[in-house]
Amino acid sequence: MNEPPPHSPEIPSPLAYTDSVLTIDLDAIVANWRLLRTRAHGAEVAAVVKANGYGLGAAEVAHKLASAGCNLFFVAHIDEGLSLRRSFAGRPFAPEIAVLNGLPPGTEALFLEHRLTPVLNDDDAVRRWLGAAPMPHPASAILHVDSGINRLGMSLSSLRELAADEGFAAYPWRALMSHLACPETPAHEQNARQLALFRDAQSLLPGVPASLAASSGIFLGADYAFDLVRPGAALYGVNPLSTGPNPMRPVVALSARILQVRDVDRGMAVGYGAAHSMASSGRIATISLGYADGFPRSAGLVGAMSIGGFEAPVIGRISMDLITLDVSQIPQSVAVQGAMVDVLGAHRSVDDLARDSGTIGYEILTGIGDRYTRVYRGQA
Ligand SMILES: *Cc1c(COP(=O)(O)O)cnc(C)c1O
Repeated sequence: MNEPPPHSPEIPSPLAYTDSVLTIDLDAIVANWRLLRTRAHGAEVAAVVKANGYGLGAAEVAHKLASAGCNLFFVAHIDEGLSLRRSFAGRPFAPEIAVLNGLPPGTEALFLEHRLTPVLNDDDAVRRWLGAAPMPHPASAILHVDSGINRLGMSLSSLRELAADEGFAAYPWRALMSHLACPETPAHEQNARQLALFRDAQSLLPGVPASLAASSGIFLGADYAFDLVRPGAALYGVNPLSTGPNPMRPVVALSARILQVRDVDRGMAVGYGAAHSMASSGRIATISLGYADGFPRSAGLVGAMSIGGFEAPVIGRISMDLITLDVSQIPQSVAVQGAMVDVLGAHRSVDDLARDSGTIGYEILTGIGDRYTRVYRGQA
């Protein structure tokens, strides 16, 4: 995010009047990166910052992690790579930036000029890259072999044909990578199948650093670590384990302001569709947050927020910019107009909200958008 503009004393800082605040703890992201390093069996730990750093700010995250020693960042799109590269101008680090979604025809010079590392997903991309950055002036590129997710990447037979060529085999590839389909289910037989296929691929290119694991894959053990791991979600506090407590530190906290408090009688309906009817008289607080802020509409009628440590159940449907809470059981002095409500934080994690709305933490984070006033802790 940009620095807020300087303002005169009469104009309050956004934090004084804003209706919603997203706090992103960059120190926690670094702690998570370091924890993953201790679990990576000596492999290099890159950081995936695609989709604007899973919604949390690719530049802020990457600058912080670069200052902690991370040298390789993955984005999905070229434009994400270009803007991340620009964001490092004038900074003491110039890390590698790899583009997962590949090398579209005609972009070879762009990659070279901005020192972006393409992930080459098919043999055509490989040939174009070897034409654009031939020996003895090779440039950084990553080979992607599909090992069973059937999404992106060249087949093993394609790689075998390529590897038969001496020039290809001698090229200093930055890495050979593949991606697991089921890493959050350690017992899934597809993990072992993909591992075996990836080992076959690796044997075609001895000496090239190999990379198979993302967040959950790191927790599958030493066999899956290879030379380089590519975590994203776990850095941002999402639980990489499908069972068991989350080993990662929470990164985001979200709070929103109470815009109005009203008394309602028994039998009155609240919100769109009159979907909630008051079982008894009480009080409703309406907060400044809605599905346009990435709070899933499917999380209406479930879960609770926290006001000064008191639990306030969500009632009625989630609107675009508003959510209604039942504050009947909360002291009137606490649930007042202007008070901030804790939406995500210690009482409710990103994973909790995901579970309550039938999705995954990844989707909650990437849906966050830029409507909040952002506060970065520990900015580099
Ligand atoms: C998104 C992505 C990652 C990171 O995955 P997480 O589960 O968020 O750690 C790693 N590798 C590839 C190819 C990806 O697409």
